[in-house]
Amino acid sequence: MRPGIHEQLSSVTEAAACLLWGSVCPGCGQPAARLCRGCAQAWAHAAPRDVAGELGGGAPQGVAVWAATTYAEPWRECLVSFKERGAWWLAQPLGEVLALTIAHAAPALASGVYLVSVPSAPRAIRERGWDTTRGLARAAAVTLQGVGVQVGVGARLRHARGVRDQAGLGAQRRSQNLAGAFVAAGDWHGRRVVVVDDLVTTGASIREAVRALRAARASVLGCAALAATPRRSGG
Ligand SMILES: [Zn+2]
Repeated sequence: MRPGIHEQLSSVTEAAACLLWGSVCPGCGQPAARLCRGCAQAWAHAAPRDVAGELGGGAPQGVAVWAATTYAEPWRECLVSFKERGAWWLAQPLGEVLALTIAHAAPALASGVYLVSVPSAPRAIRERGWDTTRGLARAAAVTLQGVGVQVGVGARLRHARGVRDQAGLGAQRRSQNLAGAFVAAGDWHGRRVVVVDDLVTTGASIREAVRALRAARASVLGCAALAATPRRSGG
């Protein structure tokens, strides 16, 4: 079947954008104005799964941890482009996938929920110009609000002290680096929250986030991330 006029026009527009701006797909590097069809399909077909069992002792106690994908291509390159290469516009499509994952992690969303992102290191926020994980949480909130869920994103966790960059640290060092590192200011009693992050590696970040939220008397419904590191290469 011949493509319709809209498909032809959009592919002409896309080709022009590639010629003019050298645009490439952030997932695979092929010429594309935004996500190429293959990478968009890879995200659309993401099948969120409970990864708590893959984290060994690293999972937070008594709460589900769901991830949309495995930290492998093309998802990994998309996340790196979003966080480190200025592909801020990925917040919207990735936020939609995160919203689906949140719905799996916390099926009882209908009565309202707060999305609380794992705080990025202050240095990462300075270098990137914004808190990318918080941006994902906000985009996921818009998607959930679109299907009638009451979602709050105003409340946040903060760093109680300085931490090292987690990259390159093993599981034990990650856990030590983050133990007691987050604080939820104020009394969160009665607030139902879902912890969201971009990537789950050992579980140390979400475990610390859950601890800080419970210390402030929040009710943690679950944790959701866009990707989980395959166990064989996890720290
Ligand atoms: Zn692609």
